[in-house]
Amino acid sequence: MKIIMLGAPGAGKGTQAEKLAEKYSIPHISTGDIFRANIKNGTELGKKAKTYMNVGALVPDDLVVDLVVDRFKDPDCANGYVLDGFPRTIPQAEALDAALMEIGETVDFAINVEVPDEKIINRMSGRRTCVGCGATYHIKYNPTKVEGICDNCGEKLILRDDDMPETVKNRLSVYHAQTQPLIDFYNKKDILAVVDGTKDMDDVFNAIVNILGE
Ligand code: ADP
Ligand code: ADP
Ligand code: ZN
Repeated sequence: MKIIMLGAPGAGKGTQAEKLAEKYSIPHISTGDIFRANIKNGTELGKKAKTYMNVGALVPDDLVVDLVVDRFKDPDCANGYVLDGFPRTIPQAEALDAALMEIGETVDFAINVEVPDEKIINRMSGRRTCVGCGATYHIKYNPTKVEGICDNCGEKLILRDDDMPETVKNRLSVYHAQTQPLIDFYNKKDILAVVDGTKDMDDVFNAIVNILGE
């Protein structure tokens, strides 16, 4: 099964993608996590991506597409994947279609996790991200067992630089201008489903599973 998670930054795509990956035994592919790993490791890609990410802009399409399409060649992608944070622009979506068409495949579902902008700022200021495995938590809505320490891997949690309110505002306007058009793009292909992302995490998850099937 090939799933795309759509929604504003902070809508809960990553949280749900992680759970879906576990339930359906497919990898969770987050382009944001891939870039952050590259930044941490000081790679050339990381250095380039950082200048865009720091100001809440998108990394140019040509730095993103090959990276994702290459990832599909890994053996764990044989039964599909859940894409989180990709595609984020119409050209990325078209490049994804073209790459899949070459191997006679298509995306099965695009799930739009809907959350109004007012709620996003609040969520982001409480988000904490693990520097080790990329897992996300929320100080109020999804706290770790031990404060500041990842439940999965024991590494420390940080507030991402780009989760500061000023940068989040930029990211939201970038989202509306460049990513929101994908909702219509996938609606026209008849693979779009919408869930209410303001509900509790478990309710959102159940709504998505209802759409995808057990
Ligand atoms: P969030 O989960 O909060 O939406 P991400 O971790 O997905 O944030 O992305 C963080 C940043 O990484 C984005 O603001 C953007 O700069 C960059 N990024 C991630 N995925 C893409 C993509 N597909 N295209 C362009 N930039 C991306
Ligand atoms: P995205 O990947 O779309 O940027 P995340 O999954 O990282 O979003 O979620 C953003 C923040 O909101 C995180 O701190 C997460 O723990 C929290 N969160 C996610 N889903 C919910 C929800 N349904 N209710 C409350 N908080 C949530
Ligand atoms: Zn971790």
